[in-house]
Amino acid sequence: PVEKILISACLLGQPVRYDGRAKTQESDLLACWREQGRLVTVCPEVQAGLATPRAPAEIQAGDGHDVLEGSARVITRDREDVTPAFLHGAELALALCQRHRIRYAILTEASPSCGSQRIYDGDFAGHTVAGMGVTSALLTRHGVKVFSQHELGRVAALL
Ligand code: SF4
Repeated sequence: PVEKILISACLLGQPVRYDGRAKTQESDLLACWREQGRLVTVCPEVQAGLATPRAPAEIQAGDGHDVLEGSARVITRDREDVTPAFLHGAELALALCQRHRIRYAILTEASPSCGSQRIYDGDFAGHTVAGMGVTSALLTRHGVKVFSQHELGRVAALL
């Protein structure tokens, strides 16, 4: 069987982002993997029950690992604490990985769920800091290697 890859739904054109848009990534590699039946899509936030569109959320005072450890929270711009939904979405993504024996994920950079190297800093001013989103942190802790949409070549080299 082909090795499956978890991928953020918004990268494949699904309009599931907080602003009701997609973040479509045009790529021959993605088209090829899709053709081969490798891609398993996930939107942790929507699958956890959050609406689209929804208020933007950022991790306050830490990154996804801190959220998993209970020392940081995910807060919307309207000051609503959405940490439980983000944790639930991460668990759903992990369950998908386990079901399909997935070792590699390609998730949308800078999202509070899906970011793998950068996330927004919690001030809603457009500034990013080093860190992972909640889903990326949970997957990483369970041995799934998380890449961004800018690293497709690195994933190809592993297949
Ligand atoms: Fe895309 Fe991930 Fe945000 Fe869903 S949670 S819209 S998949 S970046």
